[in-house]
Amino acid sequence: MTHFKDISCGELRAADIDRTIRIAGWVDRRRDHGGVIFIDLRDSKGIIQVVVSPENSAAYNIAQRVRAEWVLGLEGIVKSRTDETKNPDLPTGEIEFIPTHINVLNEAETPPFSLHEPGEVDESLRLQYRYLDLRRPDAMQVLRLRHAVVSYIRNFFSEKDFIEVETPTLIRSTPEGARDFLVPSRLQPGEFFALPQSPQILKELLMVAGTERYFQIARCYRDEDFRANRVAEHTQLDMEMAFVDESDVMALVEELYIEIATRFGGGKKISEVPFPRLDYADCIERYGTDRPDLRFGLEFSDVGMIFKGSEFKVFSSALENNGQIKAICVKGQSGMARRAIDSLVEVARSAGAGGLVNIGFSETGEIRSPVSRFLSDQELTLLKEKTGATNGDMLFLAAGSHEIVSETLALVREELAVRLDLRDPEIFAFAWVTGFPLLEWKVEENRWDATHNPFSGFFEDEENSLEKDPSGVRARQYDLVLNGEEIGGGSIRINKRSDLLRVLKLMGHTESEINKRFGVLLQALDYGAPPMGGVGAGIDRLIMQLIGTSNIRDVIAFPKASSGSDPLMDAPSPVAAEQLKELGLQLDPELGSN
Ligand code: ASP
Repeated sequence: MTHFKDISCGELRAADIDRTIRIAGWVDRRRDHGGVIFIDLRDSKGIIQVVVSPENSAAYNIAQRVRAEWVLGLEGIVKSRTDETKNPDLPTGEIEFIPTHINVLNEAETPPFSLHEPGEVDESLRLQYRYLDLRRPDAMQVLRLRHAVVSYIRNFFSEKDFIEVETPTLIRSTPEGARDFLVPSRLQPGEFFALPQSPQILKELLMVAGTERYFQIARCYRDEDFRANRVAEHTQLDMEMAFVDESDVMALVEELYIEIATRFGGGKKISEVPFPRLDYADCIERYGTDRPDLRFGLEFSDVGMIFKGSEFKVFSSALENNGQIKAICVKGQSGMARRAIDSLVEVARSAGAGGLVNIGFSETGEIRSPVSRFLSDQELTLLKEKTGATNGDMLFLAAGSHEIVSETLALVREELAVRLDLRDPEIFAFAWVTGFPLLEWKVEENRWDATHNPFSGFFEDEENSLEKDPSGVRARQYDLVLNGEEIGGGSIRINKRSDLLRVLKLMGHTESEINKRFGVLLQALDYGAPPMGGVGAGIDRLIMQLIGTSNIRDVIAFPKASSGSDPLMDAPSPVAAEQLKELGLQLDPELGSN
């Protein structure tokens, strides 16, 4: 195989018994059993047990010296283990390796943390020594899986006549709604490149160029404040097609994700095929979010009409102020402990709600609720009817503005699912969400803004036109959701200059801004841009779902720490005064000098 090894340690099997071969790797563990020394030798494919007895004194003397993580090259014979020492939990557990020669290829310091108990170690220390952390077979396994998935994606698209095109990473800013990373230009001092938030404009230009079917495993950069599972640089499956409508793109993407989930999902089941298609407004109505976790129910019921003029002022006044009252029914939980209820109230408050009302219907039909004296029998009967609650169930109700009720109950719904263990780990619940508004009104900025990006096409009619009522115009956008995470999204694009101009003007851009920022796209649209659409889908989030981790850093080879900095390379870092000078930059003196 190479100068040092004929086969990988982890690939040795009973079929290799009696072969004389060379292997090489790292010492995972060394155990001295008084007389015989056992070395677990590890390489990228797994571990083999090496047994050194004192009869081979040269090898034995070396084996006595070796320590964890030393690098060894061995020559020797594969032998069967005795029946008592066979280990069925290890792929190489039927055999062991008896070295004739041990060659120390390199010694090693004791690692700063145990590679066997990563959970015990502070994450920033693991990231600082990520090259050691990756020696854990579990960590390496994730990189292998990621490679396999990305290779599969590349083949999938290649076979469907797509070509992978690399787009530049030093570009002019492409707006995706986040802050750009800027790179100062030395040759044009005072000017800056932006790192792409996505290859959006470039892939549209590729369609104008006649590429018709493009994809790329693209690195994208968004300078966002830290939020769990957001990273400044992420990898995106980016694709674009010409002469398509929504159904073409969605069908292809759906086919890809079904294949990936089936091949790489470790036997987990897809809950529904074809993926359910949810309308945005309906989604907010039922789940309070546009990325609902469909592994469990707990849908909201609108119970507002029951409480018009109710004696319970919290409810009736919410309605008078144009608000809503919605309920979640939790089966069999009428006896939920006081403490559990209180902490759900806290969750509700964190979403901005004044509180969360709970009404339990005991098995024998009694009402258990802190507000029971304000509720009439008729209200309670209607509540049961509307929510489907029966004796034994618990209702949680929130009242207030549409936004607050949605956000509150969405959080409560998720929290309930965690506590009651409703998220089946063996299920992939995919869904498409469509029907998004094209624009949303930004109160503070006093302008319309794109809900996704300004390039999405839209549906217009007499009633709902950009000129008459922008809020009623729907985008030709589709988002792909998996187990409550948005894992991708795309749209059919605007391919007419005049339409893009109408949107950009509504968003408050001036003519000169438009020309500066979007000039190239506007011009290209004038030269025969075909109907086109595509998708950008996160690779990191997909791998997270495949392996079932909630930590995005598990699926990235060299991730940034949660603070956004890189403990391994110690970046970002100050630069030499000379470098700043070349770039024509000066630091704010308050930031200190280099
Ligand atoms: N450019 C979009 C994004 O990065 C994806 C797309 O519409 O293709 O989110």
